Amino acid sequence: MTPYQSQWMDENLEVFRRSVSQFVETEMLPYDEKWREQQHLDKDLWRKAGAQGFLCTDIPDQYGGGGADFRYEAVFYEEQWRRGLSGMGQGVHSISAHYILNHGTEEQKHRWLPKMASGEMIGAIAMTEPGTGSDLQGIVTRAVKDGDHYVVNGSKIFITNGYLCELLVLVVRTDPNAGSKGLSLLVLETEGLEGFRVGRKLKKLGQKAQDTCELFFEDVRVHESQLLGGVEGQGFIQLMSDLPYERSTVGVQAIASMEGTLEETVRYVKERHAFGKALIEQQNTRFKLAELYAQVRAARIFMDRCIEDVVSGRLDNVTASMSKWWLTELQQKVVDECLQLHGGYGYMDEYLVCRMYADARVARIYAGTSEIMLEVIARDL
Ligand SMILES: Cc1cc2nc3c(=O)[nH]c(=O)nc-3n(C[C@H](O)[C@H](O)[C@H](O)COP(=O)(O)OP(=O)(O)OC[C@H]3O[C@@H](n4cnc5c(N)ncnc54)[C@H](O)[C@@H]3O)c2cc1C
Repeated sequence: MTPYQSQWMDENLEVFRRSVSQFVETEMLPYDEKWREQQHLDKDLWRKAGAQGFLCTDIPDQYGGGGADFRYEAVFYEEQWRRGLSGMGQGVHSISAHYILNHGTEEQKHRWLPKMASGEMIGAIAMTEPGTGSDLQGIVTRAVKDGDHYVVNGSKIFITNGYLCELLVLVVRTDPNAGSKGLSLLVLETEGLEGFRVGRKLKKLGQKAQDTCELFFEDVRVHESQLLGGVEGQGFIQLMSDLPYERSTVGVQAIASMEGTLEETVRYVKERHAFGKALIEQQNTRFKLAELYAQVRAARIFMDRCIEDVVSGRLDNVTASMSKWWLTELQQKVVDECLQLHGGYGYMDEYLVCRMYADARVARIYAGTSEIMLEVIARDL
């Protein structure tokens, strides 16, 4: 298939893509199997990525970031996800950085963002609890003021980068009687933090190199200077305002996964023979792939527009929800069809399509489930 060039690419991004691609090939791909077995990346990978300038590319340079825009983030996602590398929680790292950038005080931005950009601090965001996921109003992890500190008690579950995180944006309830207005975001520096405990690295269907963990908080003392933005009760609004960005990261991962899977499948069906000819010569194979390419191209054009809109600050929540819903649902379908074209080999973990299939499933669940995306869209009818 003739390669499709996104209109948002330019010469600088081409240069950036080449160095990212080389980094992914040499520093990530060879270690993926080890990472999947140990259920987390090595910390030094983060430091290396930071040293190369691949982290926080869209954070202003005055805070140590790349001073560029979301297209650079997208390139790093694409180069990983089209190769089936789903272990690095770059999405939650970037999203945490954006919470700090968009809602933090000047002091907070200078304190944390340079370390996130260098990879010295790996970011995570903890909203979900055992008792509540989609419904954030159900959050019960409590932060009670005690002098100039908050005392935090509670637990979180399914937290990406949970094992590695050094900086945790934690959603807490500061007022038990104020519903969504009683939520606040605390930024925790986890190293040596008394009362903070990482629980199990959860065994998952896919995305096995990603450390998804339980987190526990027992009388954890957090200084009031670590309340994001310095004002209590802003947590829900802060979370909601960055949703289009978060959903776009998942959309980019989805489109890159589909393109990577298709490319690999075409290669496979050209090599594999049955009934005296290559699989690609079967009309069903050709038509199936043609259909998938057409659908993925349409999705790519939609996603490219969303990427441009993130850059210009125009992407609204409804469109972002449409893209997250549409791309992740399509991703599931595309990888499933590609697996079918691989026959039994597609079911074997050593084949890229198998891992892509397992990795894709959760995209319809995290960062807001497909049903929640439909709810957001439907509310706008
Ligand atoms: C691999 C992985 C990584 C994750 N990473 C993070 C992370 O880094 N940080 C974090 O905070 N969380 C994380 N999560 C949690 C994730 O965001 C939640 O699982 C997700 O929001 C759904 O919440 P839930 O699991 O509690 O499901 P529930 O909210 O219990 O939903 C169960 C089902 O009910 C449906 N449902 C719920 N409400 C409605 C409604 N109003 N209308 C229609 N249907 C509805 C849902 O769509 C779903 O199908 C992660 C999850 C996974 C699996």
